[in-house]
Amino acid sequence: MTRYSAWSVFWNGLTGQKNWDRAWRDPEPKKEYDVIIVGGGLHGLATAYYLAKNHGQKNIAILEKGWLGGGNAGRNTTIVRSNYFMKGNREFYEHSLKLWEGLSHDLNYNVMFSQRAHISLLHSPGARDGAARRYNTMRLHGSDGEIWGLDKLKKEVPHLNYSPNSRFPIIGAAVQRRAGTARHDAVAWGYARAADQLGVDIIQQCEVTGTTTKNGKMVSVETNRGTIKGKKIGFAVAGNTSRVWQMAGLGKLPIETHKLQAFVSEPLKPLLDQVVVFGVGGAHFYISQSDKGGMVFGGDLDWYKSYAQRGNLPIVQDVAECATSILPCLGRVRLLRHWSGVMDMSMDGTPFICKTPLDNLYLNAGWNYGGFKASPASGWYFADLIANDRPHEHIANHDLKRFERGYNIDERGAGPDPKLHG
Ligand SMILES: Cc1cc2nc3c(=O)[nH]c(=O)nc-3n(C[C@H](O)[C@H](O)[C@H](O)COP(=O)(O)OP(=O)(O)OC[C@H]3O[C@@H](n4cnc5c(N)ncnc54)[C@H](O)[C@@H]3O)c2cc1C
Repeated sequence: MTRYSAWSVFWNGLTGQKNWDRAWRDPEPKKEYDVIIVGGGLHGLATAYYLAKNHGQKNIAILEKGWLGGGNAGRNTTIVRSNYFMKGNREFYEHSLKLWEGLSHDLNYNVMFSQRAHISLLHSPGARDGAARRYNTMRLHGSDGEIWGLDKLKKEVPHLNYSPNSRFPIIGAAVQRRAGTARHDAVAWGYARAADQLGVDIIQQCEVTGTTTKNGKMVSVETNRGTIKGKKIGFAVAGNTSRVWQMAGLGKLPIETHKLQAFVSEPLKPLLDQVVVFGVGGAHFYISQSDKGGMVFGGDLDWYKSYAQRGNLPIVQDVAECATSILPCLGRVRLLRHWSGVMDMSMDGTPFICKTPLDNLYLNAGWNYGGFKASPASGWYFADLIANDRPHEHIANHDLKRFERGYNIDERGAGPDPKLHG
């Protein structure tokens, strides 16, 4: 496979772009694999890549019911940050951010990671104190964080609504400079290409429709392309986790599936250099500007459970209200597109990377609305779990039994409920 480089771009430019290799193969499924990963989103792809790269596994398949990046991987607003407070989360997300910092080189694929700063607006002294506690803790654990006063914020982000008469006047911001955005498709394609180079079979249009279990083990999965046996099987199907879990006869999970919608505007001249987050009094809104100029933004979950990957008008209104209250200059901008993905919301807002009641079945789920930034570390630790059959210390409490032990890793105290504190 050609290595991507300035030279290969130059050479292919001179030779009519006819000599590029396919980015990944399109293999027929084999009868049996050492490891089967169900779900070809970012978490499944990253897991297969690190299984091959870090653990030398050779006989791996990813089974994807649609096409790569057709799920949440290709539907999210691409915010990457590691501003987490709680033990377990902060080490995990900081490791993920470090992996992001080297990802383009590691994968030999430009994932367009842009560290442009993540700015959470503050609206009260209480919120500022809470943020100072959280960002000081992050700094003590090797991450970066700053608290900005109003003068600094106005200089860096001049277009916000700074009126003291607004309903929630801005008093400052909590900032992580190393945070930013990346290009979601490129991350999926980069992991797919790198995993394929290490021998992983990526099988698209292959839906798992059933499973066979014997003596406490899952022996095979039924798919629309036949039965495939696996020595170890990992589920990484995001919003569809409860469905495959029930196929495996394992009952109910502490997960609810909700929709999350996102929006992009017509392209504008450069307006916003950072990711800005506005969340107070029931409002939840985040925005950045894409490299093509579109304003990319989103708000809260839909207020009911659903598997529908479609937008709806109440959320358009809710998000438009937030947008114009914080960035009034957006009022006359036209919306270009609007879509939705399905979130697997866990009861404490924290994911699961863990073993399951079946000996050789592993679970990667519960990513809520934050799984894009987590995907490198998620793949890293899930691969480690599958290869070594024991959780790394950073995911020791990311299991299904933490609720029984009374050990919630509850960063926001909102669980699956949108606007709980609004
Ligand atoms: C609108 C929106 C905005 C978001 N914004 C952010 C953000 O800014 N930052 C952030 O960190 N996160 C964000 N997220 C969350 C993030 O996108 C998800 O948490 C993450 O992508 C989930 O992991 P994944 O990529 O593996 O999921 P997916 O891409 O959904 O992958 C799961 C795959 O499993 C496949 N599958 C399902 N069932 C089966 C089956 N039976 N057989 C075979 N395959 C199956 C699906 O087709 C899918 O491709 C956002 C999500 C949405 C929807």
